[in-house]
Amino acid sequence: MTDETPEPTTAAADTSAASPFAMAGVSIDPRTSATIAIPVSNTATGLPASLYVRVLHGAKPGPCIFVSAAIHGDEIIGTAVIQRVLAKLDAASMAGTVLFLPVVNIFGFQQHSRYLPDRRDLNRSFPGSAKGSLAAQLANKFLKEVICHCSLGIDIHSAAVHRYNLPQIRIAPDNERLRELAMLFGAHAVIESPLRPGSLRDIARGEGVDMLLMEAGEALRFDELSVRSGVNGILNVMAHLGMIQPHPEATQVTLPARCRRAIWVRAPRGGLCTLARTSGDAVKKGEVIGRVSGIFGDDAAEFRAPIDGIIIGHAVLPVVNQGDALVHIAEVMRFGDVEERVDQITEALLNDRLLDEDELI
Ligand SMILES: [Zn+2]
Repeated sequence: MTDETPEPTTAAADTSAASPFAMAGVSIDPRTSATIAIPVSNTATGLPASLYVRVLHGAKPGPCIFVSAAIHGDEIIGTAVIQRVLAKLDAASMAGTVLFLPVVNIFGFQQHSRYLPDRRDLNRSFPGSAKGSLAAQLANKFLKEVICHCSLGIDIHSAAVHRYNLPQIRIAPDNERLRELAMLFGAHAVIESPLRPGSLRDIARGEGVDMLLMEAGEALRFDELSVRSGVNGILNVMAHLGMIQPHPEATQVTLPARCRRAIWVRAPRGGLCTLARTSGDAVKKGEVIGRVSGIFGDDAAEFRAPIDGIIIGHAVLPVVNQGDALVHIAEVMRFGDVEERVDQITEALLNDRLLDEDELI
């Protein structure tokens, strides 16, 4: 976006300036950004551990949202997404406020681990408490200092180690506003799934904060399609909320795959796995989707799709134990043209110049 482009559409009517934004004892003026360190705890060295937030406080009033990554410390794709979004945004031409947290699980991130040093899962530790375990303290600070100030959150995850997820948005079931935001985010699939107790999504709902959970790519890896999908989605949501201007070349958005149920297909035996189909492919019930053979290549056992659907995730490590989850298939509402639609989304994301690393909006 260039300097000549007009002000955000829905914020344009509001000519009043925003008030300063306060966080952790720091005041941030409108049109500016600041990096805030929220003290969390002490580490084993006795030194302080802090949660880092980059606040972009716009020129005009508007919603306050957060974007978080690496709640699971090895799921770093959202960190790359946030880096690229930050390079594109300028608080001076924004309405509202965005809180970016590129690394929430500051402890697991350093260890390349999903968990905290106390072996707890941060995304099962909400609401936490100031006097609880390390995970409880971190969850509680994140809740009190960040989540409670916002009306919407976008939390970015990836698949587990040695697995890949097609870019997808997961939302609580039967929430029309979330459904609308999830659809316009522009990821390949939208999945309505129940909330896990103690998860960020569960606790945010209790606080009246809507949550979009993005899943994309592989743990401990960056991939361009996932990064572009995240960047595109955040900009789409911000434009929809009137915080930035809409995409200058926005065209008819391709309808993502909409899903309510997903099934893992597991390894029928231990050995070496070869997949015949992969994430983004549509599969028919009974279709062979891969095989697992012994170390000499013999005694291969095929495995098949249990339902008609789209593959939303797959294992990337060929060495498998019997029962390992290999292919994640989601049942879709409109099956007929789902593969074409998913391919169109991939093509549009990879060809969109605005999503290039050095392109400013
Ligand atoms: Zn995760």
